[in-house]
Amino acid sequence: MAQSAMLYAAPVWEEAMTVKSYRRLLETVQRKCAIRICIAWQTSEKGAWTRRLIPEMKPWINRNHGEVTFHLTQALSGHGCFSKYLNFIAKKEDEKCWYCEDNDSPEHTLFSCCRWAAKKHVTEANLGVVLTPQNFVSKLLKSSDKWNVIARHVLYTKEEDQRRMERENEENGSGS
Ligand SMILES: [Zn+2]
Repeated sequence: MAQSAMLYAAPVWEEAMTVKSYRRLLETVQRKCAIRICIAWQTSEKGAWTRRLIPEMKPWINRNHGEVTFHLTQALSGHGCFSKYLNFIAKKEDEKCWYCEDNDSPEHTLFSCCRWAAKKHVTEANLGVVLTPQNFVSKLLKSSDKWNVIARHVLYTKEEDQRRMERENEENGSGS
């Protein structure tokens, strides 16, 4: 009631409230991503990957920069377009990588798949360091510039590939 009175009285307020609600929505999405990582970290067996990347939660939570994007959440939680996970949730028959002969996991995609080697090298040249599961998060935490370089690493293209392949499978009447 108070809000509608304010809206009626001053259109400027309406705009301010809209901006505010957008911001709240954005914050909610970011919070959901952040919570997903915390949950992945805490769940004992499945959290092994997240804990390898984030050995300590404190510096991660207390950081002053870094938006946890959808793709970064996938990389850090391991829940995303990785054959290992897709197999686990029964969306794929095996754990094989789409691009090479190895099995696909977040570690494989982020650090060793030949499909992403060129992209990885560009990111590393930009950062001046070779990325490993051990230093991935500490490099993210270094600065917001580094965070942004790493956040753009790999997963965008892979998700597009996944959608395209799912479409093709449907068109070919997957079944087998
Ligand atoms: Zn691969």
